[in-house]
Amino acid sequence: MHFNPYGGAAAELAAVLVNADPAAQLLDVLKASDYKPLGSLDARQERDVRDWIERLRLAFRAPTVELLNELLAQSSTTHYISTHDGRAPHLHYAREDAPTDVRLKAYTAAGMAALFCEDAGRIGSCGRDGCETVFVDTSRNGRRRFCSAKCANRVAVANHRSRAQPA
Ligand SMILES: [Zn+2]
Ligand SMILES: [Zn+2]
Repeated sequence: MHFNPYGGAAAELAAVLVNADPAAQLLDVLKASDYKPLGSLDARQERDVRDWIERLRLAFRAPTVELLNELLAQSSTTHYISTHDGRAPHLHYAREDAPTDVRLKAYTAAGMAALFCEDAGRIGSCGRDGCETVFVDTSRNGRRRFCSAKCANRVAVANHRSRAQPA
């Protein structure tokens, strides 16, 4: 994962979860993002996390102080210094033996809140109609409008065509 100064890995993970294929197993998505400790999710927790992901989606589309404070309030945990997996001491937003859904909520809420406070303009959703992808804008100028070069090109081609055709 590249270094992301805006909201860090927690905000990146929030984007990954929102963008994940709904058919994919959440634990597989978390594993692929190197989320540790992984833990487990039963059916109830899985449903809960999927509901949470929809809230994160809203936070990417239309971030507001109220919405982010709600997410923080609904995921509040005790911060904790962890040394799991032989890593150097680092801050966790919840105890590592807390359930995965609880940790995941606290982590992603904190990441989104940090990102919002650093630079809310870096919270992005793709500007192409029909594309649902969200992202953390880590570009130098912070003016990224699309999730990918593919979406940017499709919009550029469509704009070009509509200009080329007389109305
Ligand atoms: Zn950790
Ligand atoms: Zn897109």
